[in-house]
Amino acid sequence: MQKVKLPKSIDPVKSALKRSEYRGVMMSSDMARLLDAVAGVADNVEIEVKFAKDAQGLTYFDGSLATSVSLVCQRCNELFEQPLEVEFCFTPVQGSEQIEQDLLPDAYDPVEVDEYGEINLLQLFEDELILALPIVALHAEEDCKVSAEEMQFGQLTPEQERPNPFAVLKELKRDQE
Ligand SMILES: [Zn+2]
Repeated sequence: MQKVKLPKSIDPVKSALKRSEYRGVMMSSDMARLLDAVAGVADNVEIEVKFAKDAQGLTYFDGSLATSVSLVCQRCNELFEQPLEVEFCFTPVQGSEQIEQDLLPDAYDPVEVDEYGEINLLQLFEDELILALPIVALHAEEDCKVSAEEMQFGQLTPEQERPNPFAVLKELKRDQE
C-alpha cells in the first residue's frame, strides 16, 4: 500500500469540521533540525492524526508519531537504534490569547496558528520528535560495549554528560505550560 504524504501545513479548524483523519508519512529529510540532532533517522516518520471538535466545541487534533533514530552511545561511542514514539493532543490558538490558554483543558497543548489560520505540521511534529530524544543517549546496559564494571572507573559525572542541545527547547516548552 502506498503511503500518503501528509500536508506540511493545515487549517485545523476546517479539518475539524470535515473530521479529517490522516494516516501517512512525512519525510525525515524535510526535518533538518532533527537530522542535526542525531546520527541518522529512518526515511519515514509514520503519522496518524485526527482532527475533531470536542463536546465544548474546541477544535483539537490528536494522534501519534513513530520513527527510528540512530544515536551515538555516550558510554561506548557506538551507534545504536532508538525507536521514537510520541503521542500528542493539540488545540489551535490565535496568537497571545493568554487568558484563554489558561482556561484550556490540561489534556490539550496549545499550538499557535499563523496569519492564515494554519499550523505548520512539519515543524510541530519535528519539535515533538526532538523533545522525545533522550537527554543522554545510552545503550541498554546489556548491549553496551563498555561494561558496568568498567564504568565504575570511568563513570560519567553529571557535569561531563553532554547536555542535549535541545534541552533549552524543552525548558521553553515547560515555561509555556
Ligand atoms: Zn554503549
